Amino acid sequence: MAEKQTKRAWVYAKKPGGKWFNRRQGVGYALLAFFIVAPFVKIAGEPLLLFNIIERKFVLFGSVFWPQDLHIFVFGMLIAMVCIVLFTAVYGRVWCGWACPQTIFMELVFRRIEFLIEGDWLQQKKLDKGPNMMTKYAKKGLKHTIFLLISFGISNLFLAYIIGVEGLWEIMTDPVSQHFGGFVAIVLFTLAFYGVFAYLREIVCTTICPYGRLQSVLMDDRSVTIAYDHRRGEPRGHRKKGAEQSVGDCVDCNLCVQVCPTGIDIRNGLQMECVSCTACIDACDAVMEKLDRPKQLIGFYSVSEIEGNVESSDNNTKSKGNARTIAYTVLLVVLTAVFGWLVFSRSQVDGTLLRARGSTYQLLDDGTVSNLYSLELINKTSGDIPFSLEVLGENMTIRMVNPLTVLKAGTTAQMTLFLVSPQQSVKTYKTNVKIGVMAEGKTVETLKTTFIAPPNEGDD
Ligand code: SF4
Ligand code: SF4
Repeated sequence: MAEKQTKRAWVYAKKPGGKWFNRRQGVGYALLAFFIVAPFVKIAGEPLLLFNIIERKFVLFGSVFWPQDLHIFVFGMLIAMVCIVLFTAVYGRVWCGWACPQTIFMELVFRRIEFLIEGDWLQQKKLDKGPNMMTKYAKKGLKHTIFLLISFGISNLFLAYIIGVEGLWEIMTDPVSQHFGGFVAIVLFTLAFYGVFAYLREIVCTTICPYGRLQSVLMDDRSVTIAYDHRRGEPRGHRKKGAEQSVGDCVDCNLCVQVCPTGIDIRNGLQMECVSCTACIDACDAVMEKLDRPKQLIGFYSVSEIEGNVESSDNNTKSKGNARTIAYTVLLVVLTAVFGWLVFSRSQVDGTLLRARGSTYQLLDDGTVSNLYSLELINKTSGDIPFSLEVLGENMTIRMVNPLTVLKAGTTAQMTLFLVSPQQSVKTYKTNVKIGVMAEGKTVETLKTTFIAPPNEGDD
């Protein structure tokens, strides 16, 4: 009986290179740059992105969201989920290979440093298996020191997304005792990132990440993914130059396996471990070019195309242009547009106006009648808002019990007020009333309530 393998087989990935890798590098480094600068860039005093779960404050492109905007956030989350499902159904694991921070950091930062210090995969293997010499200690020491420093940098950035750069700066400059929690968080995050990029690596994608494990549910035969065209490639085998072609196009050079960062053989069919990194496409294309054979033995294909249910085409336009893709893309655009509209059309001020519970009207000696209300106003911006209240369209006045003229940034203000109307203007027992919250000459919020009073006897 074969002995059960318990030890992890370390993946030594060959240095990738080629057209697709260059494209992926372009996208990856652009996203990396965005990730690094986003907490520092300010729009109207707010960062580009902030996810302050401690204070329940979220900022998207300078727009502040408070707990009162929960519905927008929930909608945003739903859209994100739908996007992931639809995108995966159509384009496979494109997120993993091109935009996931794990892949970007692993393949474009940490592994590049490893190549630089320890050389390509065979040299790395030799170094690990070789005797413990000074050069080995020096290379390993240098690599892990740089890994730790970058993990420390990522940890700080990560924290900047949660507490903002100002909060992070305080942790960095104040004595440790004043921000012990923050200090511990930085240390823990640093160790976690170091552990992920120095040791866990592809295990995060193949075993830990729930999205990776969902692939089989989200994808179907029409999903475009990276696949090996076995009809063209098999039977695989070495081929002598100039000899009559008696085998498939795959010369079994194993280069596609050697470059794979998750250590799989794409020729074994669609596998959950594939993160669509395109490294095997580049490797195989280079081989096909040398053999003067058409490229794309490994390429972007759907299972239907590979199995011949749909005719293959070089640029996959047939597959991508099918009705399902168009319908999904339209749905994504619509959902994103609705989310954008919700985000940018939401009011700066929110409020509720309620007639005081159990109260009724008061008839006053001067011939007026009043109702008592409690008012709550929320300033959802990061700046103070001077404001006033105005009754819209009714002959009524407002008498504040606790007058307030400025709504402090990001706070909720409670107020009590009377609505007063000349009794002779009252036409019905219950009148619908609108009160405008005015700021800078504009109505920033309209509140609705009812006013009760006995109708003027002169009226029907
Ligand atoms: S790189 Fe291409 S030719 Fe070489 S083994 Fe892989 S599929 Fe076959
Ligand atoms: S099979 Fe190819 S695309 Fe998939 S992870 Fe390996 S190298 Fe990347």
